[in-house]
Amino acid sequence: MISEKVAGISNEMIRIRRDFHRHPELGFTEKRTARVIADYLKDLDMNVFEGIGKTGVVGVLQGNGPGKTVMLRSDMDALPIQEQSDVEYKSLNDGVMHACGHDGHMSILIGTASILSSMRGSFPGRIKFVFQPAEERLGGAKAMIEQGVLDDPRVDAAFGLHLISVLPVGYIGWRYGPIMAGMDSFTITIRGKGGHCGMPEGGVDAILISSQVVSILQSLVTREIPPTSPVVIHVGTIKGGDAPNVIADKVVLEGSVRTLDLNVQKLVPERMERILSGITRGMGGSFEMDYNSGYPVTVNDTVMTDLVRSAGQQVVGTEHVLEIPPTMASEDMSFYLQKIPGSYFFIGAGNSEKGLTQPHHNSRFDFDETALEIGAKMMCRLALSYLRD
Ligand SMILES: [Zn+2]
Ligand SMILES: [Zn+2]
Repeated sequence: MISEKVAGISNEMIRIRRDFHRHPELGFTEKRTARVIADYLKDLDMNVFEGIGKTGVVGVLQGNGPGKTVMLRSDMDALPIQEQSDVEYKSLNDGVMHACGHDGHMSILIGTASILSSMRGSFPGRIKFVFQPAEERLGGAKAMIEQGVLDDPRVDAAFGLHLISVLPVGYIGWRYGPIMAGMDSFTITIRGKGGHCGMPEGGVDAILISSQVVSILQSLVTREIPPTSPVVIHVGTIKGGDAPNVIADKVVLEGSVRTLDLNVQKLVPERMERILSGITRGMGGSFEMDYNSGYPVTVNDTVMTDLVRSAGQQVVGTEHVLEIPPTMASEDMSFYLQKIPGSYFFIGAGNSEKGLTQPHHNSRFDFDETALEIGAKMMCRLALSYLRD
């Protein structure tokens, strides 16, 4: 029954996705996007809340009686990328592009809302359709949680999906436990003392100190973190010095940290502090570190992931439901999953025969739109199986 219903709105979902694709908006500026979503949800006769976490939209659909509350989540934002391909639905906003597939996620969730609203007499409890702004680096999930998206009514379970072009269309990827990395960033300022390069004894060379720091951070990775817990400590920029014959008095390093282990994510900044303090003091300088917590590790609940697996088996068949390795990319779905049991999974959307294999965040990124039907079938089945059992 769900399959037929989804097939019936497949063209409409493609139309919705292409409309979002033409009108991409960056994180926390998704005004048109939010209006389009809210209009659809109001037409479906559910309670709609706008402006949650700046530009987020929430629709609450009541079932036929008391029960649990399940949340289905889509992100909304695009990226600061100039689209290079010449598709008919190419971005109309200069320098902004849906290059991660969030246009597809919104279309899937609107399609799901339309089907489940037509079935509201057939399940207990309620469904929260959460359209979240600013997934790319800005943490829109956190903003929505602060404004109560998980409360009133309290959410009992949460599901989210990502279309993914490295997985062919027709496949679904799942994983128990950590599926995507935690991501933090840091800025380290190293201070020395300026002077003449011919009289180094009078200065403290901030460049020499910083080169020790860059190398020793990699020793932290191999000597202080259990080798079974992968971690990346990456220095991405290094800025300092004014002239070839002058001792630099200041160097600024910026970088990021990624890990799949929440305990390691907590451990890294204190270990960095200790090592930085020893090296800079030992070499006669000093340092300041600004350590910013970004996204936590995305951790899937086992029971909820079992629901994803069984829904996947019904939608694409057992042999197309794959356990996938974790990725060191990050996701702010992690903020919800820290508080609510749930599962985040991947919908295959690549198709090499159609030339749809570009990586996400690429200026020619696109995906196979038949994945929209698969995504909507998954979300419908997940909500129903959670609420009915
Ligand atoms: Zn992305
Ligand atoms: Zn994304």
